Amino acid sequence: MLGDRKVLIIGAGLAGVETAYLLAEAGVKVILCESKKLKRNEAQKLDTVAELVCSNSLKSLKEESAHGLLKKEMEDFGSLMMRVGLETQVPAGDALAVDRVLFSQKIEEIIKSHPLIELKELEVEKPLDLMKVEGADFLVLSTGPMSGKSITDFICQELWDQEKGQDAFFFYDAIAPIVDAETLNYERLYYKDRHQEKEGGDYLNVPFTREEYDHFVEDILAAKKVHSHDFEEEKFFESCLPIDVMAKRGHHTLRYSCMKPIGLFPVNWTEKPYAVLQLRKENLLGSAFNLVGFQTRLTYPEQKRIFQKMPGFENAEFITYGSVHRNFFVNAPLVLRSDLAAQKNDSIYLAGQITGVEGYTESAAMGIYVGLQILRRLQKKESLTLPPETAMGALINYLMTMERAAPSNCHWGIFPQLPNAPRGRKKRKEKKQMLFDRAREAFIKFREEVGV
Ligand SMILES: Cc1cc2nc3c(=O)[nH]c(=O)nc-3n(C[C@H](O)[C@H](O)[C@H](O)COP(=O)(O)OP(=O)(O)OC[C@H]3O[C@@H](n4cnc5c(N)ncnc54)[C@H](O)[C@@H]3O)c2cc1C
Repeated sequence: MLGDRKVLIIGAGLAGVETAYLLAEAGVKVILCESKKLKRNEAQKLDTVAELVCSNSLKSLKEESAHGLLKKEMEDFGSLMMRVGLETQVPAGDALAVDRVLFSQKIEEIIKSHPLIELKELEVEKPLDLMKVEGADFLVLSTGPMSGKSITDFICQELWDQEKGQDAFFFYDAIAPIVDAETLNYERLYYKDRHQEKEGGDYLNVPFTREEYDHFVEDILAAKKVHSHDFEEEKFFESCLPIDVMAKRGHHTLRYSCMKPIGLFPVNWTEKPYAVLQLRKENLLGSAFNLVGFQTRLTYPEQKRIFQKMPGFENAEFITYGSVHRNFFVNAPLVLRSDLAAQKNDSIYLAGQITGVEGYTESAAMGIYVGLQILRRLQKKESLTLPPETAMGALINYLMTMERAAPSNCHWGIFPQLPNAPRGRKKRKEKKQMLFDRAREAFIKFREEVGV
């Protein structure tokens, strides 16, 4: 009887709420503990669960993108993030961006009103003790990339076989600034989505002349930065590099990454912008914009001074400045089994970003995955092995074969190669569509065969 079984989940972030919801919907009792109302971490601003702490984008919905595929699989498994994400969507081209406050509030309402979920405001320091007190069959740790010392110590000491190698890894990400929309000078800015022929669009663009770009890069290089603590090694995630790190790599690096002008040339302009920064709406009202890809380690006064020199930003006021943060995750092949239970104690599962995936959607997907695996255990069935051609299967495959400390988001590079892939740049779209179709076929077949 599933109703007699209980699962304790620590951390009501994107992963924790997905695991809780999936299990509760299947008839399992869940105790979900969340500490933020008592003590927020440096990135949190809301009191409600499932907070998107930086960008408000859950990335692409497009069919031929790996993120679009992952979202389809999550929807098929009844994802709470997808359901509420679509209900609280704000315009962002092909991406699923949400009103972060509404998103988090709605998820909390659903969790709190579920008859089989008990949401406890509690900072758990001794997970095993609480597991005993609650009489839980399984424990899920979904405490996120900013997990505190008690949890990281617990994972390192209880779940890690020290003799097998190095301790838990960590590295840095950085938060992108958010600007007050009312303080921008729109005469210097224009709306356009990348590669869209038509005028207008969801993104507001900040065009730089060559001279403006050159000065901007010089300013960034010379600016004061916040440096990490002596005991912390600086390891950045390659697809989320701070702009100051990118500027240091070369004068044109920014122009080839987050300030890439390609596909953003305004129709009637005779002179093309040399570089373009994109701004994405933060909420439905459009009262704030996220500086896309502008995560940075610059000190707050330096950010204000330098960003106010950007076109249209003369009087800009910032709601949030960029900042640096720690990201804790485990070396999955050493610590976890492929169902994400700990090798040392299989009644404990890890879910979300601490498993070694990167991103809101990927973290939530790992919450669903763990929910499915626990359900199988409770039903006395074999664990699930999702085909690596599927998005969730590819993420698990990546985690279990990870050779270095490099968390991954969901992209086509982690999927098995197509045996007869069409070659050449012009065939890229076709190739992605083939990967997508292969994944959908494998996913549907898997579900039919296994009955999930
Ligand atoms: C600063 C920052 C910016 C990021 N920006 C982006 C971005 O722009 N886009 C993107 O896709 N990804 C981003 N990420 C990466 C990542 O995908 C998110 O952190 C994501 O929220 C991870 O989901 P999660 O459920 O694993 O953890 P979280 O969402 O962090 O949830 C963990 C929860 O556990 C709670 N908790 C922790 N310890 C305890 C305890 N002992 N007892 C009880 N509760 C506890 C926390 O309060 C938190 O609510 C960012 C990460 C950070 C840290």
